[in-house]
Amino acid sequence: MNAPETLLADQAFLAETHDVFNVSRELVDFNAYLQDIALQEAVRREGAARSHDALTAFGKLTGSADHLALGVLANRFGPELETHDRFGHRVDLVTFHPAYHALMKTSIEHGLHSSPWTDPGPGAHVARAAHSYLHAQVDAGHGCPITMTFAAVPSLRTTPVLAGLWEPKITARVYDPRNVADGAKQGLTVGMAMTEKQGGSDVRANTTRARPLGAGGTGLAYELVGHKYFVSAPMSDVYLVLAQAPGGLSCFLLPRWRPDGTKNPLQLQRLKKKMGNVSNASSETELRGALAWMVGEEGRGVRTIIEMVAMTRFDCMVGSSAGQRAAAAQALHHCSIRSAFGKVLNEQPLMRNVLADLVLESEGSLALTMRVARAMDHRDDEPEDLLVRLCTAVGKYWICKRTPNHAYEAMECIGGSGVMEDSPMPRLFRESPVNAIWEGSGNIQCLDVLRAMQKTPVVVEAFFREVGLAKGASATLDRWVDALHRELGDLEGIEYRARAIVERMALAIQGALLLQHAPQAVADAFCASRLAEGGHRNYGTLPRGVDCAAIIERATPRA
Ligand SMILES: Cc1cc2nc3c(=O)[nH]c(=O)nc-3n(C[C@H](O)[C@H](O)[C@H](O)COP(=O)(O)OP(=O)(O)OC[C@H]3O[C@@H](n4cnc5c(N)ncnc54)[C@H](O)[C@@H]3O)c2cc1C
Repeated sequence: MNAPETLLADQAFLAETHDVFNVSRELVDFNAYLQDIALQEAVRREGAARSHDALTAFGKLTGSADHLALGVLANRFGPELETHDRFGHRVDLVTFHPAYHALMKTSIEHGLHSSPWTDPGPGAHVARAAHSYLHAQVDAGHGCPITMTFAAVPSLRTTPVLAGLWEPKITARVYDPRNVADGAKQGLTVGMAMTEKQGGSDVRANTTRARPLGAGGTGLAYELVGHKYFVSAPMSDVYLVLAQAPGGLSCFLLPRWRPDGTKNPLQLQRLKKKMGNVSNASSETELRGALAWMVGEEGRGVRTIIEMVAMTRFDCMVGSSAGQRAAAAQALHHCSIRSAFGKVLNEQPLMRNVLADLVLESEGSLALTMRVARAMDHRDDEPEDLLVRLCTAVGKYWICKRTPNHAYEAMECIGGSGVMEDSPMPRLFRESPVNAIWEGSGNIQCLDVLRAMQKTPVVVEAFFREVGLAKGASATLDRWVDALHRELGDLEGIEYRARAIVERMALAIQGALLLQHAPQAVADAFCASRLAEGGHRNYGTLPRGVDCAAIIERATPRA
């Protein structure tokens, strides 16, 4: 039998089961802007060099452990709905974790909801997109109300009498989440309510009715009765809503509170149970005689709200590009620390192939997004305006659609720990399909590309002029573009072939941009892997000869 002293010693030995080594660590306390070379290059190239210092400060904030923790908390403790207070009054109140409010405050105080409208000029959209790209990597969900607030302004400006009243508070850099009337606030946020049960993409099927309260017409008051099946950010102070007026589907501005201080009856039925985008609330609502004013012309509701939708679609490009960067950064970081079979993972040839491929995707997405941002800064220049018209739909389709598989592959680079809920990867993965589906799902974007080409054929010329800037730089791209010309010349069954065409357009412009502006290793590998016959297969199938080490080195964030 052991003596008591021996027993104690054995227990101490058993308690020390193993050393923890060869494991990764959190990617925190790094400058998310300065550690993103592709982003810095894009900001300079596309006309926002003057924002370098502001972005450096913002990159420090968005890479800090404290700020990243806000994104975690806002998603762990999602929003909750209280339809009534304890005395039985209707309140339609959504409560959020304080982390969500802190994220909203940061975005609004940095002008992510308004800077191109309050400080327009060269680089304004580019600088805003770069800021949004950084903040979306902390939390994508709160970006929804920020985007809608930003995007509402062009629609509102179609009706100067309403813009004059509302725009100053919508663009103010003041976040006030209180559930009180707009008159008591210095800053307002905006939501958008188009989708109904029977008609989502096809808003012409909407049944919500708008009855004029007087003469009716632009800028005048109506009463709305009906429902909206998806209303995100239901704590917005004001919403742009589509409803059937006597003269057809029209756009309305609907405040949360009536001017007399009573609650406007846009009533929240329940919150959506979403697989991703958790920090953001999305609701089902009913409109029970809600007061609203007509924006734009009667019967031209789609024309009016499309000004807003065009902006939110652009922000989907920003958000999904950011999701790709966040996922690639996590994979690159992990694989620069973890070893397997005698080598750090990012030195294993096959892992190099996967990582470099993830980076190429992310660089292509960013390049296209920031090019469109520059075009948005120059809409008075017709070719730039045409590029926005076409490439927002092309980019929204392609970048958002490429993101889910990208997120999953980045997760796999991290191995089993990447699947765990305490890793950032499940959140990135669950977020990844959302941008592809809302604001016009994939097919709708492709049909929009066809519509733009049919209605305004010069968009095609503007597109090929842009792609032509890289002519001669790569025989692979030249062949790809020739094939695209042939595809577009063949109108037989074009709607059926729309995805294939838009995919070819997206890759053509991404390839052209990278050939002009990215390091040769990136551009050559992009063209060799995406524009060669057979197209891109799974990640990690880059052909021989790619300088994976250079691509990985450039993109790996150092904490
Ligand atoms: C998280 C979340 C939040 C949302 N928030 C809002 C919000 O705040 N406000 C708001 O108004 N909406 C919101 N939406 C709704 C969203 O915009 C719609 O879900 C989307 O537009 C698609 O509409 P639907 O769901 O009715 O699908 P449907 O219109 O039924 O489409 C189903 C599928 O059919 C395809 N399709 C449709 N027409 C065609 C065609 N002619 N040819 C080929 N394919 C076609 C679509 O691409 C899609 O893949 C939100 C959605 C989500 C997921």
